[in-house]
Amino acid sequence: MDHFAYRDGVLYAEDIPLPRIAEEIGTPVYVYSRATLERHAQVFRDALADIPRKHIAFAIKCNPNLGVLRVLARQGYGADVVSGGELERAIASGMAPEDIVFSGVGKTRAELALGLDRGIGQFNIEHEPEGVALAEIAARKEMTAQAVLRVNPDVDAGTHAKISTGKAENKFGVGIDVAPQIFDRLARLPGLKLRGIALHIGSQLTSLDPLEAAFVRVGRLIADLRAAGHDITHVDLGGGLGVPYKEGDNPPSPADYGAMVARVTRDWDVALMFEPGRVIAGNAGVLLTEVLWVKPGAQSDFVIVDAAMNDLARPALYDAWHDFQAVRPSGETMTASIVGPVCETGDTFARDRVIDKVAAGDLAVFRTAGAYGATMASTYNSRSLVPEVLVDGDRYIVVADRIPAGTIMAAERVPDWID
Ligand SMILES: *Cc1c(COP(=O)(O)O)cnc(C)c1O
Repeated sequence: MDHFAYRDGVLYAEDIPLPRIAEEIGTPVYVYSRATLERHAQVFRDALADIPRKHIAFAIKCNPNLGVLRVLARQGYGADVVSGGELERAIASGMAPEDIVFSGVGKTRAELALGLDRGIGQFNIEHEPEGVALAEIAARKEMTAQAVLRVNPDVDAGTHAKISTGKAENKFGVGIDVAPQIFDRLARLPGLKLRGIALHIGSQLTSLDPLEAAFVRVGRLIADLRAAGHDITHVDLGGGLGVPYKEGDNPPSPADYGAMVARVTRDWDVALMFEPGRVIAGNAGVLLTEVLWVKPGAQSDFVIVDAAMNDLARPALYDAWHDFQAVRPSGETMTASIVGPVCETGDTFARDRVIDKVAAGDLAVFRTAGAYGATMASTYNSRSLVPEVLVDGDRYIVVADRIPAGTIMAAERVPDWID
């Protein structure tokens, strides 16, 4: 459930009519709903009610906006971060360092040191040399890094190849077959408290089966590690729960997920950690755009909007579907391809789709744009960096400014040795 709904024929975000934001801030612009973020945070937490010891770390790569993070920090969420930049954001948003988990396959030594200096709660180690480096850095600082070893359970998550992370051929984690030996060697290192296992098999998962298969494998690994004398107190189950992008999509609910986790992990006797991203933020945001032109095409009309692939990359990257809705629908429909102004055919949001009939000057939204939307934006084609707005009831605030193309250009220089 979300808080974007029509009132008297006009689409609102909570109590704010979207035309007001378009008029005052301009388009394209991302619009987030605080009530929706809070509701999703609550629903996910409630789904884990049967799990006695747990920690929820929002995967902030999906929406690292400081305003959004503050909302989730207030909900008791920590953060799963994948870079030093995200780490600093999580702390700047008011999250406690001990509630931060540091994932990512390419952490630098400087980032590992930063995590230690900031006192973060856990490092998710992706391979043996990283663990060795972390132990060395921590020992030099006379600190102990709390860590878990990320394993690659070799399951097919059944999602888009580019966001599948738990197959043996993917770059993430260590093979679950070699994990016991690696765990054994890392657990001996001073500077490191290796306390458990992490996994994350992919994103936008629409079935619980691959997750369950992966968790069962990890359950066996925990038993093996304990039999070898290791103290296993934490298991990080990652994120990945899918969200509905279009009518008929029926991903597992957080409640179904929570029930499966509770069943599979009943005897594990560990603190469980979760890293939800999309399921919290996806449906809490829309990308508001204006129709620039409607142009006849060979197959169907082109609806040319002022948002483009640089603002919302998912369709170009993953052939992703985002529902397109007029802000003031007339009730009529048209068949059209929806495209942006960028000079690439990849700048296509929809092909030959039946949509609300729109004309030049009309406002429309791409739904479910709160996750992996603004965070992936670029300034390709020297376009401005898209702004973000957070709505809270009958008020809203710009939580990220539009960064004009001129500001980007001002950071460039022409060498004086080119005459
Ligand atoms: C991306 C990512 C997540 C979040 O995935 P969602 O599908 O958005 O829930 C969680 N953990 C790790 C390690 C990730 O890389």
